[in-house]
Amino acid sequence: MPAPATADLHLHTTFSDGTESPERIVELARQAGLSAMAITDHDNVDAFPIAQRAAAKHGIELITGIEMSASAENLEVHLLGFLIDLAHPGLVKHLDVQKARRVERVHEMVGRLNKAGVRIEAAEVLTLAGEGTVGRPHVARVLLKHGYITSLPEAFQKYIGPDNPGFVPGSPLPPALIIRVIREAGGVPVLAHPIYLKRDALIETFVRDGLVGIEAYHSGHAPDVVRRYEQLADRLGLLKTGGSDFHGDSKEGLPVGAVKVPAALIDALRAWKASHPA
Ligand code: AMP
Ligand code: ZN
Ligand code: FE
Ligand code: FE
Repeated sequence: MPAPATADLHLHTTFSDGTESPERIVELARQAGLSAMAITDHDNVDAFPIAQRAAAKHGIELITGIEMSASAENLEVHLLGFLIDLAHPGLVKHLDVQKARRVERVHEMVGRLNKAGVRIEAAEVLTLAGEGTVGRPHVARVLLKHGYITSLPEAFQKYIGPDNPGFVPGSPLPPALIIRVIREAGGVPVLAHPIYLKRDALIETFVRDGLVGIEAYHSGHAPDVVRRYEQLADRLGLLKTGGSDFHGDSKEGLPVGAVKVPAALIDALRAWKASHPA
């Protein structure tokens, strides 16, 4: 009997805060034996056309994806959007604004860090980020380079995590707005790594705002956590997705395919999309 087809639906490239190129990630997916995958860069979809060429060559199915930032009750909310229309004008406009906002945010973070006696420069962070969207891991890497920390997680404990001197939220926008942007672009909105939200009660409000799925399977979810979110999804009538949240060297020891889900989950996303025209 052939092995069941599997997918990794949460991957980051150099177009956000990952350290591997789109082509390399497709290559790693092939080596991991995956049949299907989605790249979900933070507020960026530019890896898709590049990865698509590589995926076609390797016979891997690549679906469109994104991870967008929102905030609710001072908590960070990450929303995945699958099967989105990359050229949708509303989405393109949102991403342009968000990309500029992320640059602004780096200036604000670095300004706060400077006040706290940390001598790094925004220009170095922005150069490191390159053409994609800039994020906190880029700040963390500059802190590491200048000897303020000895590991990347330490940056989020001392300098740029919530309650730290350099913290600035990723996006002031409410989840309802992001869910709408995703749905209007023909996508399926899914709450990323619900464990990091730290407040399950909020999920029901997101469902009222149009949320369609949750990422029950994630590298940060222990087996009992997976079961909890499977049950929550079934109770609320939500679709389930999953993926590794691979970031290359930004998250050490976590390979592409660290979380594999049945590729059939993609059929459920497609079926939902087909019955809910944008
Ligand atoms: P941003 O979108 O700029 O707020 O950055 C969020 C990203 O920072 C996440 O996707 C992770 O890659 C990384 N991150 C967040 N918290 C931590 C942490 N505690 N340790 C290491 N990386 C983290
Ligand atoms: Zn990230
Ligand atoms: Fe995330
Ligand atoms: Fe992610």
